[in-house]
Amino acid sequence: MDFLRPTTWQDALAAKADRPGALPLQGGTDVMVEINFDVRRPEALLDLTGVAELRQWSVADGVCRLGAGVTYTTVIEELGGALPGLAQAARTVGSPQIRNRGTVGGNLGAASPAGDSHPPLLAAGAAVEVESRDRGVRTIPAHAFYLGVKRPALEPDELIRAVRVPVAAGPQYFSKVGTRNAMVIAVCSFALALHPEERRVGTGIGSAAPTPLRALEAEDFLGGELDWDAPLDAGLLRRFGELCAAAAAPIDDVRGTAAYRRHAVAVMARRTLTWAWDDHRGRGAA
Ligand SMILES: Cc1cc2nc3c(=O)[nH]c(=O)nc-3n(C[C@H](O)[C@H](O)[C@H](O)COP(=O)(O)OP(=O)(O)OC[C@H]3O[C@@H](n4cnc5c(N)ncnc54)[C@H](O)[C@@H]3O)c2cc1C
Repeated sequence: MDFLRPTTWQDALAAKADRPGALPLQGGTDVMVEINFDVRRPEALLDLTGVAELRQWSVADGVCRLGAGVTYTTVIEELGGALPGLAQAARTVGSPQIRNRGTVGGNLGAASPAGDSHPPLLAAGAAVEVESRDRGVRTIPAHAFYLGVKRPALEPDELIRAVRVPVAAGPQYFSKVGTRNAMVIAVCSFALALHPEERRVGTGIGSAAPTPLRALEAEDFLGGELDWDAPLDAGLLRRFGELCAAAAAPIDDVRGTAAYRRHAVAVMARRTLTWAWDDHRGRGAA
């Protein structure tokens, strides 16, 4: 197996264009497990850890641009204020060792329905910046990035360069159901972001369908019914939970049944909206 180690982004793109079969490697917390278990035997590994710019993040015009190599630890330590939903999700990932190596870009590249980055990225309205040597940059909204189970919307010669996440303009919450509190793949998960200036609520559901997804009908419902200056109405909260559960398309597997996942999505939707609404009201809404 060849090992390619570019030190610039342009060299990384050239390597991927010349060797589309080369498997990108960032933190390796998915890739090395797959190689060790013989799930994959790529013709080459394209190690991106030498491309320093991928580890950087910046904020401009209300948008945080996270390089594909930004780790969960960096998100937790440096971005809890700007991206609270993603930071909450990052705190639930694996163990300190996995959070030190594992990256948001790698989570996107793996595109597992259970990946913890996806629900907060969906709820916040993120977009993924991908690039190829021959066709340049494409910006893909997060909701269009997940094509199927572990199938990201990447062409064979493309790499993820960054993810652009609007800086939180309101409260955000992430909730995850697992069989214990650490080192656990989500049975299902849910993220919610209030966008008070747009009078909009964003959602993201994880591990309860073949891909991470938004609960669009639930978002539209709240967009039409929420009174942003009043306490939460109990009937509205219940309906929101029902619509989120209806958006899920879960399966029975070793981690949980479809029925349990649907139920849990409704519970998490109600809880996260309640928490976010408490914060919103505490921030001075009438
Ligand atoms: C013990 C353990 C616990 C874990 N716990 C969790 C958890 O709680 N929650 C969770 O979501 N995940 C968990 N994971 C999975 C893994 O840590 C995450 O998916 C992590 O985000 C992967 O990031 P990475 O940088 O290590 O990716 P890598 O393993 O380097 O890559 C992952 C995939 O993305 C592709 N890729 C990487 N970078 C790019 C790029 N720039 N462009 C295109 N493709 C790219 C790779 O080719 C590969 O297909 C766990 C893994 C382990 C081993």
